[in-house]
Amino acid sequence: MSKTRELIELSERRSAHNYHPLPVVVHEARGAWVTDVEGTRYLDCLAGYSSLNFGHGNPAIVQAAQEQLQRLTLTSRAFFHDQFAEFCEGLADLCGKDMILPMNTGAEAVETAIKVARKWGYEVKGVAPDQANIVVMEDNFHGRTTTIVSFSTDPDARDGFGPATPGFTIVKYGSAEAIREAIDANTVAVLLEPIQGEAGVLVPPAGYLQQVREICTENNVLFIADEIQSGLGRTGDTFACDHEGVVPDMYVLGKALGGGVVPVSAVVADADVLGVIKPGQHGSTFGGNPLACAVGNAVIRLLRTGEYQARAKELGALLHERLTGLIGTGGVVAVRGRGLWAGVDIDPSIGTGRQVCEALMRRGVLAKDTHGSTIRLAPPLVVSEEDLNWAVDQLAAALAELSED
Ligand SMILES: *Cc1c(COP(=O)(O)O)cnc(C)c1O
Repeated sequence: MSKTRELIELSERRSAHNYHPLPVVVHEARGAWVTDVEGTRYLDCLAGYSSLNFGHGNPAIVQAAQEQLQRLTLTSRAFFHDQFAEFCEGLADLCGKDMILPMNTGAEAVETAIKVARKWGYEVKGVAPDQANIVVMEDNFHGRTTTIVSFSTDPDARDGFGPATPGFTIVKYGSAEAIREAIDANTVAVLLEPIQGEAGVLVPPAGYLQQVREICTENNVLFIADEIQSGLGRTGDTFACDHEGVVPDMYVLGKALGGGVVPVSAVVADADVLGVIKPGQHGSTFGGNPLACAVGNAVIRLLRTGEYQARAKELGALLHERLTGLIGTGGVVAVRGRGLWAGVDIDPSIGTGRQVCEALMRRGVLAKDTHGSTIRLAPPLVVSEEDLNWAVDQLAAALAELSED
């Protein structure tokens, strides 16, 4: 039996089947490329769902992590440590906000934003106790906790995990009017992804984010942007909200903030919002730990150069031009996205998204399907132009191969 088969069978036997991975067992990686246990190389076009924006083994990030590993890894928030101040100031400044609240995973940061918004609603806006509601979007993805799946519209994510947490109003994504109609006197926040990633890289209509900003301001409601996947360079700007010049009241960040090394997440906002949280009211044993902050500091330094955002913009234009060329005859029905981030709808008569991803894997490209017939492409922002072109060639060839069968 091959090493790959053996490791997959053992993994499947001894782990819950909450994922359906492609049959590849990765052993090492550098930049945009990974190598499996058989020595086969693949171009990583998923990049850990955009956790690896700066590439596998980014030298600046790995060096910061290694130095920190040798010196100090954990204090808990019971004490200060010497990486914390720089991380808080650096991330707050990157967002143009006063302060941050650090957590670990994306879902924890979303939970934090929900708690902050509710508390702000009661203490600042004056909503009656336990009456706060938050407007959220159809087809959202904000994580997997019981409260977050309570307002998911994906039956797989939601069903069987009730009772649902109350206090959320779901409206159609992309309709500012729907938000306006859903807001009432007890609404404390609107929570949305500026581009919906898991839904298939859905880009809202132009002007939508600006309208959401105006509606939130008019109604004294917090605009919470979940930029966990869309933020930190992916779309060609530091944040997807930048594209419309929009500044939300709270940024929710994660994924790439941990440099592909450790989970690092945060909520970033002004003092009149985050200031509502007092000692004992929220926390995390690992949130803002020294290793996380050292890695986060390296990530922030990389983002300050603007090089990654510029690369995503430039190579993203190429990616979208090439993918758009596959619409119609090439077996592609539609292409969406921004920067180095694309959702590609496959003609279902050719095959499922999964089948396309399996064919891509055989051709040396790793990508992930979503919702049946969509595949997502989001390579590390360090990918070369040559490799990106090659990946699109492989997609075209995989689609041609499947349409012959
Ligand atoms: C991945 C993701 C999350 C959840 O992050 P985890 O680290 O998996 O908990 C939340 N929101 C968005 C938009 C995401 O893409």
